[in-house]
Amino acid sequence: MSEWTFDDRQGRPPWLFLSVLGLIGLLLVALSWLVWWVPCVGLSHIHPLLPRWFGVLLGIFVLAVLLALGQLGLTLLSSRDLFFSVRLRGLTIRYLLPAIIAIGRLLGADRDALQRSFIALNNQLVRGRKLRVPASQAIILLPHCVQLHECAIKVTGDIDKCLRCGKCGIGALAELAQSRGVTIAVATGGTLARKILLEKRPRFVLAVACERDLTAGIRDAYPLPVYGVFNRRPQGPCYNTEIDLAEVKKVLDAHVLSDSANS
Ligand code: SF4
Repeated sequence: MSEWTFDDRQGRPPWLFLSVLGLIGLLLVALSWLVWWVPCVGLSHIHPLLPRWFGVLLGIFVLAVLLALGQLGLTLLSSRDLFFSVRLRGLTIRYLLPAIIAIGRLLGADRDALQRSFIALNNQLVRGRKLRVPASQAIILLPHCVQLHECAIKVTGDIDKCLRCGKCGIGALAELAQSRGVTIAVATGGTLARKILLEKRPRFVLAVACERDLTAGIRDAYPLPVYGVFNRRPQGPCYNTEIDLAEVKKVLDAHVLSDSANS
């Protein structure tokens, strides 16, 4: 098993996500049969060969979508870089994600679990690109809730104001980013995050947030490669959240070249 195994936070393959993918495939086949059968009754009155041609075109479309779904499933299960991963990522983010979450919700699946699966899938596809960008072209985006609630220092806009007192994760992350020469910023929401990305124009983003914000951020920033890392919420959502520093280091090691390597 590779070091970068698919992890839906419990270290298991995303069966929920894969089940929803399979269900979408089945629904697609059933719907496409209906879409073929209903007009065919009328088309056969125009020309006897029309239903066949219509069926061939529809069949090609359905086959292409089923292949894409199958490839996604294999990508998840194999933890490997499968061909077309950049296109797959775009397809997943733009079209499949809303369908998967909507259908999963209809079936009563937990939204957070679906979003975790999506982010793990996104991360796998980003890893598959094997990006290695200079530190100056990478950025770490943090949510405001990582900062100790009682801390009076305003780190939004300038994280260097942090005194590195060690009472929350901001100090250690700022230290890590500084040592690697990577830009780091704290964003209070999606609008500020978008503004930072527009200003900095990075080629690689490591974003830390909850499931909901990461899902929205990854979609907003597409086609920019955004690697999502979940924050931990031992005191509840949006309050004194924590970050796994080792995970952040691992992602930087894999995708960001150190300044010395660039020079
Ligand atoms: S490390 Fe200390 S100074 Fe920095 S943001 Fe956290 S509590 Fe404030």
